[in-house]
Amino acid sequence: MGAAGEIAIDPKVSSFIAQKHRLLIDGQWVEAVSGKTFPTYNPATGEVLAHVPEGSKEDIDRAVAAARRAFEEGPWRKLTPSERGRLLWKLADLVEDHAEEFAELESLDNGKPVAVARVADVPMAIDLLRYMAGWATKIEGSTIDLSIPGEQYLAYTRREPVGVVGQIIPWNFPLLMAAWKLGPALATGCTVVLKPAEQTPLSALRLGELICEAGFPKGVVNIVTGFGEPAGAALAAHPDVDKVAFTGSTEVGKLIVQAAAGNLKKVSLELGGKSPNIVFQDADPELSIPGAANAIFFNHGQCCCAGSRLYVEHKLFDRVVEGVAEEAKKIKLGPGMDPTTEMGPLVSDEQQSKVLGYLESGLVEGAKAVVGGRRWGERGYFVEPTVLVNTRSEMKVMREEIFGPVVCAVPFKDIDEVGQAANDSIYGLAAAVWTRDVSKAHKVAHALKAGTVWINCYNVFDAALPFGGYKQSGWGREMGREVLELYTQVKAVVARL
Ligand code: NAP
Ligand code: MG
Repeated sequence: MGAAGEIAIDPKVSSFIAQKHRLLIDGQWVEAVSGKTFPTYNPATGEVLAHVPEGSKEDIDRAVAAARRAFEEGPWRKLTPSERGRLLWKLADLVEDHAEEFAELESLDNGKPVAVARVADVPMAIDLLRYMAGWATKIEGSTIDLSIPGEQYLAYTRREPVGVVGQIIPWNFPLLMAAWKLGPALATGCTVVLKPAEQTPLSALRLGELICEAGFPKGVVNIVTGFGEPAGAALAAHPDVDKVAFTGSTEVGKLIVQAAAGNLKKVSLELGGKSPNIVFQDADPELSIPGAANAIFFNHGQCCCAGSRLYVEHKLFDRVVEGVAEEAKKIKLGPGMDPTTEMGPLVSDEQQSKVLGYLESGLVEGAKAVVGGRRWGERGYFVEPTVLVNTRSEMKVMREEIFGPVVCAVPFKDIDEVGQAANDSIYGLAAAVWTRDVSKAHKVAHALKAGTVWINCYNVFDAALPFGGYKQSGWGREMGREVLELYTQVKAVVARL
């Protein structure tokens, strides 16, 4: 740590990292039943950052039992919606008070630039919590006039919390994904067992401390660090969990669905993507070139919605490819804790090998790297920002989610061709279109099979906008009013008058 150019770690962050980490179960910080721990690494150096408890099925059982008690018997269910909203707002305030600590923690554990965590991950997490705090008082049913002859009835619906929720999150936006999951669950009155990703458990544990400080009753939020197998799998299969919410790979998403079948728990999934980013020749290159670079290189391409297939109308193809390659060359790689770093390492050696494996397969199959294509630096899990051309639609690099800073650029002839090519994927998370033609923009937006379509922009998120996938990119929508449906169930009440 503390290499030239890196900011000194906030002493509060160092002491948090160095403390003995425990699981949050029933309002207590406890060791794993097995007593085992596992390391989390700093991806900029490959050095161990901290050890956290290795939760197992027994720990999940304890956490689910605590969440069940909190849901059925604890003070939580008796809180008014307004009181739930105030607790969430309080939590948002506490995260804001400790914003710099969270930014550093994310940078150290995940590798992302601290400068990015400061302006993206942390403020977006705070905003999401506040947005969801507002919903706590706005969860409503409706009254319904019945058409049954003869009798008079009063019929109405209630939206009730779904119950105990298991939440399994990935490592690409650790704090933000925790907020996306916890915010709506708590706004609607559910109780939670959260399993953070093994690569990035620290910000969730720090958030757990603030959840206690905010005054959430014990057992409402339980946090179990550990591996997908066994901890995540035990949570997904648990017979006393009413719903599981998962963000991660499509492959594991399918395992979650199978595991959930035992008690038919509700499932929501936010999975992978291979998002098409379409640039028409009438697009403003000043916008679309940096836009296309940001679409793939933001967060090192470790975004489920990364614009990883760049389709450019053939007349503009060379200019856009050159422009994106120039943008790639300008990106300053380095440790996330260097405030001038624009792109840090990938999260793990595993992800680095995976991305390098994709690059190799693409190059072997005939693709060409206009820029990048290799590992960067001598230590840490860096990969050069890369633009591939000469790809074909059947290549792995065009079909599979690389989850790294690698874009495949492909020329197209016309709107019909690109519409088909864009939709030729098992995924359907996001897409974008760049054009000055308003009517074309909306026509294409309607034709794209994706949960989000950006026009002349990319990676625009808001707590009020629903986000989720078509096809194998997922089930359900997070954020916006839509997410309330994932955490509530409707009860119809009918009274004869
Ligand atoms: P992953 O395996 O899908 O991990 C996501 C979460 O699921 C983690 O908390 C993980 O625990 C847990 N998990 C793993 N196996 C499980 C199981 N059988 N049952 C229940 N939970 C389980 O993703 P990854 O291995 O970290 O990354 C692999 C690929 O997934 C990436 O290359 C990328 O393509 C994709 N990915 C997508 C997103 C997204 O936002 N859509 C995010 C991250 C990764 P562990 O932490 O122990 O693995
Ligand atoms: Mg780590």
